[in-house]
Amino acid sequence: MEGVVYRRIRVESVLSKSGLYDLDYAYNPYVGCSHGCAYCYARAYTRHTEVARNWGRVVYVKENAVEVLRREVRVARKGVVGVSTLTDPYQPVEEVEELTRRGLEVLLGEGFRVSVQTKSPLVVRDLDVLEKYAGLVDVGFTVTTLDPETARLVEPGAPPPASRVGALRKVSEAGVETWVFVGPIMRGVNDSAENLRKIVETAGRVGAKVFYDFFHFKPALDESMSPVLEKHPDATSTDPRWRALVERVLLEACRDEGVECRPAFPKKSTSRQSRLTSFLD
Ligand code: SF4
Repeated sequence: MEGVVYRRIRVESVLSKSGLYDLDYAYNPYVGCSHGCAYCYARAYTRHTEVARNWGRVVYVKENAVEVLRREVRVARKGVVGVSTLTDPYQPVEEVEELTRRGLEVLLGEGFRVSVQTKSPLVVRDLDVLEKYAGLVDVGFTVTTLDPETARLVEPGAPPPASRVGALRKVSEAGVETWVFVGPIMRGVNDSAENLRKIVETAGRVGAKVFYDFFHFKPALDESMSPVLEKHPDATSTDPRWRALVERVLLEACRDEGVECRPAFPKKSTSRQSRLTSFLD
């Protein structure tokens, strides 16, 4: 958390409606994310310009998030809640704020289904809650690469891949449904057959599903992506032949390992972009 500026804000609403086919709502207890991933699209979807312009360096804490959530779940129709969609719910500040932990208790206690997505082993702290509501919750870990050096380049503030894999194992062993999100896949960065196979094998070892997505460049990412592009000039490629090849490699690896593997955002469903738009915090 060193070097990150935190500000406390109060909100009127914290349970946002989702247009995505597999989520009804999103719960984002923080605005911004100190993991500061170079490819993070979320910065393009916040109305807080200070956070957007300083992504990874400024984070707002919605200090009344749990109290507002408690009020909102009383009247909201039951559904699936993404925790979170525009921030990592287990970024370091969660260790002290516990807005994710307490939010999970409220949501699961009220019978909502929850889908957690994180890059952090801090989620293991909440295994007691996750185990208690194992039938209502799944936990996904984003693993773009297993190479620590590449991870440092594209996800400079996030926990290293090995620690995510360790947490994935612990959550799976606790009997909670898990999945691995392989994305965004960037040309020349994390698209090698070796990298993709190793990630699939990791998922296979713990019985986790795999979801994947390719990189969708946005002008808001110009600055953050420049160190990545310096080293990997094709990282923003959308070449359909390259994508088809990578997809084939990934699907073959999944078939070999007996892992269920799907695009995270199937073509006919709501796109990643509209997913994010629908979650404006
Ligand atoms: S962990 Fe997720 S929300 Fe946080 S910066 Fe990275 S991609 Fe964005």
